[in-house]
Formats: sequence, structure tokens, C-alpha cells
Amino acid sequence: MNTVARPTHAENEVDRARSGDVRALARLLSLVEDESPRMREVIRDLLPQTGQARIVGLTGAPGVGKSTLTGALVGAFRAAGRRVAVLAVDPTSPFTGGALLGDRIRMQEHATDEEVFIRSMASRGHLGGLAAATPRAVRVLDAAGFDLIIIETVGVGQAEVAVASLADSVVVLLAPGLGDAIQAAKAGLLEVADLYVVNKADKPDAQQVVRDVRNMLALGSFEPGGWKPPIITATAANGPRDEGVAELVTRLDAHWDWLCASGELKRRRHARAREEITALALATLRDRVTKDVDELAARVADGTLDPFQAAEEILTEAED
Ligand code: GDP
Repeated sequence: MNTVARPTHAENEVDRARSGDVRALARLLSLVEDESPRMREVIRDLLPQTGQARIVGLTGAPGVGKSTLTGALVGAFRAAGRRVAVLAVDPTSPFTGGALLGDRIRMQEHATDEEVFIRSMASRGHLGGLAAATPRAVRVLDAAGFDLIIIETVGVGQAEVAVASLADSVVVLLAPGLGDAIQAAKAGLLEVADLYVVNKADKPDAQQVVRDVRNMLALGSFEPGGWKPPIITATAANGPRDEGVAELVTRLDAHWDWLCASGELKRRRHARAREEITALALATLRDRVTKDVDELAARVADGTLDPFQAAEEILTEAED
């Protein structure tokens, strides 16, 4: 009798991915992104290997320089000997695979570096799917042993804020001449920021954006011993050796130290897990609702059924 459990297929794939097999990694990512029937098995099997990676979210309006900064950051982290993965998430693009091609081209200097992995994810017209697939992709990259995972996302609405909330550290990127700070505030981005980067510091209006953000921050209150988001000016186009990019790396490290020391990391990861499982439970519940909701809605609309009773009927059936 064989008492030693043989590694599952997924475990083998994770081992390969950890040892740098890019194809195994890409296969695992496809499995979890496409909701393949084996997805749950994969997620379960790689769980023991997760929890080590630092997750940095980078978001901002189109054109502020996210891809350029991501490229520069990757270079700076690589110079420090870290394995980096980038998930470029584009909720606005309906195209599969072809999304963010520009980003890939801009990051071509990293294309031959085995310690850097770049993956684009698009919504395919289904935002909910993307929101659900992103944390799974992060898990895979975490299990594959990357020290750092950068989630780059276009920040133009609430869904992107949700994606940014997957991160341990959220960087909000602004730049002069793009409706910038005020627009970001409207999108709710400023509330989720741990660090601000005002990019394109080579442009004359950059200091005005810095002042706008500073004024906005002055309106908020920060607890003593809490984290006060720094405002960093950068010229991402100058690459990894740009002073602002170097400062961002230093500040990200400081934020990480604060997250660990204050217990905030644990709190954030707990909140994240809570979000994820609640969303999963609700999605499962939705799938189980086979009752004719329209028939109930018609009765509620014409006043023959009260809405609480209707909701009760839906839930009772879903429980069975
Ligand atoms: P994204 O849409 O936010 O990903 O922005 P991109 O990284 O594609 O950059 C948008 C444009 O801004 C490109 O033409 C970049 O070359 C340019 N850009 C990026 N960083 C800088 C910078 O530091 N200074 C200047 N002047 N232009 C920049």
C-alpha cells in the first residue's frame, strides 16, 4: 500500500513554475483565469505556497505613465535582486490577449529576463469575471515564488479601485495635464492611496499637481503612528535610475515595514479574504437561484406579493 501521497498535477506544475518554468506558470494562469473545471483544484493545491509575495497596486488615469513607471520599477527591483511579476489589468479593454500590447512592447527590455514575468488580463466585456480572476492570478504568481507582484490597472472607476484593493500597497499615479488630481478624487482613487506619485516631473505643471494633492491630503486626518501617504515626484521616462523611481522603491519598502510592524498587513489580508469569499458565496447563491425571479418581480410590482416574502422564497429554494 502506498501511504505517501503523490503530488497532484497542479503541485507538479507549481513546482515547475517555482523553478522558473514560464510555460508551466502561463498554463496555471490560464487555468485559473478561464474558470476551468480544474481551477479549484489548482487554487487548493498551491495554497500552502502562498502568502510570501508583496503585492503592489499601481493605478491612475490613462496616459499618466503607468506602464512606463511599471517598467522602471521592475528595473529598479531587479537591480535589487528581486523576482518580479506584473499583472497588467485592463478593465476597459474588451480584447483578449491583445490588451495592453503597448505595455508589453514598452517592457520588452525585461522580456529576456527569466526573473520577470508579465501578464496582461482584459475584461472581455465581463468586469465581474476580471475582478474574480485577478485574485486567483495573484495567488498563482505568489505560489510561483515571485517576491513582488505589481498589479497595474487603469484607474477610471470603482471596479479599478476594487482591483487596487487587492494590493498590500496602493500607488496612485498622477500627471500634469490630464484632468489629474481632481479626476482621481472623483474616482475615489485618492482614498485608497498609500503612496502618490506625480509623474512627468519634467513638465512645468507637475508642481501644481503636487500642491493639489497636498491640499487634498491636508483635509484628511491621519492617526498618530498611522501611515501618512507620501507624495513622490518622478520622471518615469528616465527609467529605473530616476531619482523619483528610486525614492518610490525606498518608500514602498518603508510602507511594507509599517504594514508588518503595525499589524495592518494582517488586517488588510483578512479584509481581502473576506471580500473574496463573500463574493464567491454570493456568486454561488446567484447560480443556485433557479426560481423564476421575473414571476416574483411581477407580483411584487403589481402589489400582490411583498418584497420580503419574495426574497425569502428565492433564498429558501437556493438553500435546498
Ligand atoms: P499609461 O497609459 O498610464 O500606461 O501611460 P504610458 O506609460 O503609456 O505613458 C503615456 C505617455 O506618457 C507615453 O507617451 C510616455 O512616453 C509618456 N511618459 C511617461 N512617463 C513620462 C515622463 O516621466 N515624462 C514625460 N514627459 N512623459 C512621460
